[in-house]
Amino acid sequence: MNTHAPLPLRKITIKLERAHADPLVVPVELPATATTFVGIMPAVRSIADALQDDALQTVARMGRPATCGLGCDTCCRHLVMLGEAEALGLLRTLAALPEARQADIRSRFQAGLDRVEAAGLLPRLYAVFTRTASDHIAQAEMQAAYWELGIPCPFLEEQACGIYAERPLVCRQYAMSSPPQNCRTPFGPQTALVKVLPSLDLAGAAAAFDGELAQQTRLLPLIFCLLRETHLSLRAFPVLEPERMLTRYLDFATTYYPRKDTHHIIMERA
Ligand code: SF4
Ligand code: SF4
Repeated sequence: MNTHAPLPLRKITIKLERAHADPLVVPVELPATATTFVGIMPAVRSIADALQDDALQTVARMGRPATCGLGCDTCCRHLVMLGEAEALGLLRTLAALPEARQADIRSRFQAGLDRVEAAGLLPRLYAVFTRTASDHIAQAEMQAAYWELGIPCPFLEEQACGIYAERPLVCRQYAMSSPPQNCRTPFGPQTALVKVLPSLDLAGAAAAFDGELAQQTRLLPLIFCLLRETHLSLRAFPVLEPERMLTRYLDFATTYYPRKDTHHIIMERA
């Protein structure tokens, strides 16, 4: 018996009306039954991709196209931060990979943690991101200190993201229109990084939303995902009807996490 039969999905269309740009129409698939925020993450990723594509097209039209390309992987050494639901989704992505590949990735997680520990950063990193998510100065210092270690993301394989389709929202939102060599010194005084930003910060919104209500922002460094595996698997995320959950999330994101525009959401059954 196949115990991993795909769950039935329901197709809907999200229309993002924006005050200063054309509406963005995004077809998404949602689970047909009540789920947690992890369950609607594929739909959130589709919306994040549509917003990022739109931002990339806008800068290209302005003559400042993005400079990101295949094999350009310098940015995959940053301290990647995730919301807890995303982190749990990432652990499920990992668990679904063939065992040998899982073992390789797990060993890269461990190697990364060993380097963080050897540099004396482990307790500070843990404290900054699990207890004081609102201390932006301490977070920026830790981002710079982590960068200095040059630790490749455990999912980086042959200069490409090994989980590209399921990579975190913050990775989906990260692109530059400045020269790629500037990405090698992101914290240097001379660095000129020109980010291509989507009009909504869906990654930030995801870290401050539990599936039903706004919550205090809970960020987790990607490199800590395995350390928090038990905690995350035991966390009781709210369970809601998927369309209701996505509406709540998008209302929250458009109210508190807009970057460049005002948005109005319309949800239509396909
Ligand atoms: S953000 Fe920088 S390092 Fe990353 S792909 Fe784009 S140009 Fe390359
Ligand atoms: S998850 Fe993928 S895109 Fe994100 S930092 Fe890791 S390798 Fe890069």
